[in-house]
Amino acid sequence: MVSRVIPVDPFDLVIFGGTGDLAQRKILPALFHRFCAGQWPEDAQIIGAARSDLTTDAFRQIVAESLRRDAPRRAENTEALDGFLQRLDYVALDAMSAEGWPELTGRLTKDRIRAFYFSVGPRLFGPLADQIRSHGMVSDQTRIVVEKPFGHDLHSARGLNSTLAAHFDEGQIYRIDHYLGKETVQNLMAVRFGNMLFEPLWNSQYVDHIQITVAETVGVDGREEYYERAGAMRDMMQNHLMQLLCLIAMEPPAKFDPDAVRDEKLKVIRALDPVEPHHIVRGQFATGEGEPGYREVVNNPRSTTESYVALKAHVSNWRWAGTPFYLRTGKRLVARSSVINVQFKDAPHSIFGEAAGRHANALSIRLQPNEGITLKVTIKEPGPGGMRLIDVPLDMSFADALGPENQDPPDAYERLVMDVIRGNQTLFMRGDEVEAAWAWTDPIIDGWQARGDVPKPYDSGSTGPGDAELLMKRDGRRWQGIKP
Ligand code: NAD
Repeated sequence: MVSRVIPVDPFDLVIFGGTGDLAQRKILPALFHRFCAGQWPEDAQIIGAARSDLTTDAFRQIVAESLRRDAPRRAENTEALDGFLQRLDYVALDAMSAEGWPELTGRLTKDRIRAFYFSVGPRLFGPLADQIRSHGMVSDQTRIVVEKPFGHDLHSARGLNSTLAAHFDEGQIYRIDHYLGKETVQNLMAVRFGNMLFEPLWNSQYVDHIQITVAETVGVDGREEYYERAGAMRDMMQNHLMQLLCLIAMEPPAKFDPDAVRDEKLKVIRALDPVEPHHIVRGQFATGEGEPGYREVVNNPRSTTESYVALKAHVSNWRWAGTPFYLRTGKRLVARSSVINVQFKDAPHSIFGEAAGRHANALSIRLQPNEGITLKVTIKEPGPGGMRLIDVPLDMSFADALGPENQDPPDAYERLVMDVIRGNQTLFMRGDEVEAAWAWTDPIIDGWQARGDVPKPYDSGSTGPGDAELLMKRDGRRWQGIKP
């Protein structure tokens, strides 16, 4: 099955911070892939804008190297690579001064979609918005894209929202959470709302509990300063895991449209109970296996920043009353694995007697690696000797089910950047959602600070601190393995 490509309208895309790590590693390779897929109109252009004093040729060279590194298969096609590079332009400018702005204004095309990607630190959001407005670059076809982190707490998120609102309508602001661009995350909505099979069972009467795991093997190298201020709660839980929780728990929106979906997500966040302190485990990876521990990496022997957090959350509404949501995320864990597990309840009565054991269905939605969905069902163990039951997986991996060309699903940024051009905000966070997520997160972090909480050490390459296992064990449950 070959995916359909729907061309987009002509556009100018300005990437502020175009020479930076995110632009080079993610945004430009994503744009290159879409260019190769034939999704671009003839005269679309990308303008890199950053502080470095570069010519357009020098910028193209830098991008060519990044693409050879991060999109090697497609970059081998020199015709495609050259074609893409020809669409790139570069303007040296400074968000904090007048330098470069008239030049940028002059390079933009009249009367077409104009997207400004803020791939810079949040302290530059306000100055960039001011400059764009004061240089007359805003039209009703203008969009801005802002990266995470969107604030450090509720107060700063409100500040950023009001700064942006002074220059742009909410309908022009695209707050990226790249998890929402992942193919399987969108598939989660397709599975829930495109099938009759699941939705009737999707509530506390039939679902025992839900687990969301985002495990990483990487540490914090290269991002020490940021991470030391953020920790796992701000870096992952407040945004990525919260967004996954919303998609799993929300009511069916009336239609797949930006405000309908985001209204339902917001209701989930607002229905979250405050988390009890004994329902949270914080961890910090320790020195081990020849690898430095977190405190060594950030060069702070007293650091109390968590590199791991696990918690039990409750969504207090009719659908979910009594069904806990267990969320965990951490760095330097045994495997890279992002997975959502929906654990259904046991059948109410076993006609096969106690010897058949207890069996329950489970739906696993794997975001990475090996994106796909598995449903565990109970069947009879083959062969004579009575009625013995076993659980087998009904497995749908994208690669197997949809053919080898889907083995490598598009990167989240490909989908999201093209959605910006199309003007579709469904997979972007609205300002009130972000604020509600901070309003839930802040008291947790404030509580740690007030109590002088110190995260529990855990071994690099493990599944996290032992207390996270206890969190489950106390409830008679256990985490589904991190290893795929
Ligand atoms: P970076 O430090 O690699 O790049 C910053 C870019 O901003 C450079 O191009 C620099 O020239 C430009 N810049 C800095 N000051 C400027 C000024 N005054 N005027 C104009 N341009 C200026 O940063 P990055 O890693 O690419 O991150 C960019 C943003 O994306 C940050 O907010 C970061 O938190 C976020 N983010 C990054 C990643 C990632 O993987 N790198 C992931 C998620 C979010």
